[in-house]
Amino acid sequence: MNTLAEAPPTQELSEQDIIRALQDTVSASRLSLFLQCRLKFYFRYVLKLPKPKTASLHLGSAVHAVLKAWNKARWLQQPLSLKEVHETYQQAWADTTEGPVQWEPGEEEDDKTTGWRLCDTYIRQNAAMALTKPDAVEVSIDADLAHHGLPRLIGILDLVQHGSIIDYKTSASTPNPGTVGHLHEIQTSSYAILYRYNTDQQETGMQLHHLVKLKNPKVCITDLPPMSQSQQTRLFRQMEAYLDGLQRPDFIPSPGMQCSSCEFVNECRRWH
Ligand code: SF4
Repeated sequence: MNTLAEAPPTQELSEQDIIRALQDTVSASRLSLFLQCRLKFYFRYVLKLPKPKTASLHLGSAVHAVLKAWNKARWLQQPLSLKEVHETYQQAWADTTEGPVQWEPGEEEDDKTTGWRLCDTYIRQNAAMALTKPDAVEVSIDADLAHHGLPRLIGILDLVQHGSIIDYKTSASTPNPGTVGHLHEIQTSSYAILYRYNTDQQETGMQLHHLVKLKNPKVCITDLPPMSQSQQTRLFRQMEAYLDGLQRPDFIPSPGMQCSSCEFVNECRRWH
């Protein structure tokens, strides 16, 4: 199988090689971006144009690193103290190995405080979970969907507990209970496929844990049922559209609300 990981490190990959590798494997985030805007997908995954990490992404990564450490400690049945959690947060905040962060003046300290308050709120509210051993934490898995004529699906499950797939999100506003399941359907359906393929069991349900960056941080937990047959069909049709678009190849822009947060606006304006 031709993947980016297997290519010789010294050899420059051609655009066709990169597209071929993207046809071999797909993740929920790649698929979502492709369906949102194919040109943005092209800039990020084919041309790999380097861009500074956004402040919001850095905060989300630091919070995610803390929750990962907290859950791993639960899995080892050696729960972390709040002091150890705070040290983990400090280290995660200082980690800029993914590249420089684009801060506005004075923004970093405020964001650092906000991120810690989110972690603190989550852990205090879920203190009862500290002694429960999860089924799996931050597990990287795949599912070979070749028998459906589809690419290999890859993904990382944040947490599985009592057979329920849990995914963490940081957000600036409170999620709308009426639409949040729909907005994240590609991701939750992808995770359900991965879970079923790797355990031969159906998930008991799914949960989205939103850590909301308000003045008084709060945690919103959305319970979702197991993936339905029609949701699986929708996902597979979306993956077919992904394969078809890469095959042609078709990387047109899709201007819309999402452009306000797109890091490739300048490149996009030059596209014709
Ligand atoms: S600015 Fe909008 S249309 Fe252009 S690449 Fe970004 S998301 Fe797509």
